[in-house]
Amino acid sequence: MRDMIFADTFRHKGLRNRMLENLAEKGINSRILDAMREVPRHQFFPDQAFLEKAYEDIAFKIGAGQTISHPSTVAIQTQLLDPQKGEKVLEIGTGSGYQTAVLSKFGVKLFSIERQHELFVKTKKLLEELDIKVRLFFGDGYQGQTAFAPYNKILVTAGAPFIPPALIDQLLPGGRMVIPVGEGSKQVMHVIDKLEDGSLVENLHGEFSFVPLLQDRN
Ligand code: SAH
Repeated sequence: MRDMIFADTFRHKGLRNRMLENLAEKGINSRILDAMREVPRHQFFPDQAFLEKAYEDIAFKIGAGQTISHPSTVAIQTQLLDPQKGEKVLEIGTGSGYQTAVLSKFGVKLFSIERQHELFVKTKKLLEELDIKVRLFFGDGYQGQTAFAPYNKILVTAGAPFIPPALIDQLLPGGRMVIPVGEGSKQVMHVIDKLEDGSLVENLHGEFSFVPLLQDRN
């Protein structure tokens, strides 16, 4: 485990700007791009040797069999979630902490759950060092986090075989959940809006490939 934060050099900033230009071409709006500009993605990588990789549109292994999501996936999920200042946001699957860091730039009250203990410990330390304000939990995302529920927004960053009922319960009326749903290697991005009367409206936003949202402890 590393014990220092990788510097954010001009070179990193240049590569990041190029990444953001590509995301803008894909229809990502400036509010999301501005948040992503503030987060040096390479700082969430396991090794500085992967500098060039950090700003390509690829997922990357971060240990414990898990991956940091593609920057385009983070951008699209964040745009669909549409986080607003002051909202309570729950993320399922902290992973590297990159998506967590991006969400933190919107002035939300942020909560995130990770079930892999090794990653949980490593990422908690990194996010503290980076001064990212978030409450992290080691636990099972299928259960959500009742202590701080309900949430305005819930973002699931692993592929769910079904929509976890506890997460629907913990969503506020007027709230929204973004969740990739599907078994196997492909999922369809679902945006689920809970209306004021408690009814649900579902919209689909294309195919993605996530690591699975696991149901057993290990
Ligand atoms: N947001 C992360 C994506 C990491 S991949 C990032 O940007 O790096 C998905 C993460 O979900 C993995 O870290 C995996 O360990 C975690 N995960 C899988 N099943 C889970 C569950 N049931 N509860 C919480 N986290 C889970």
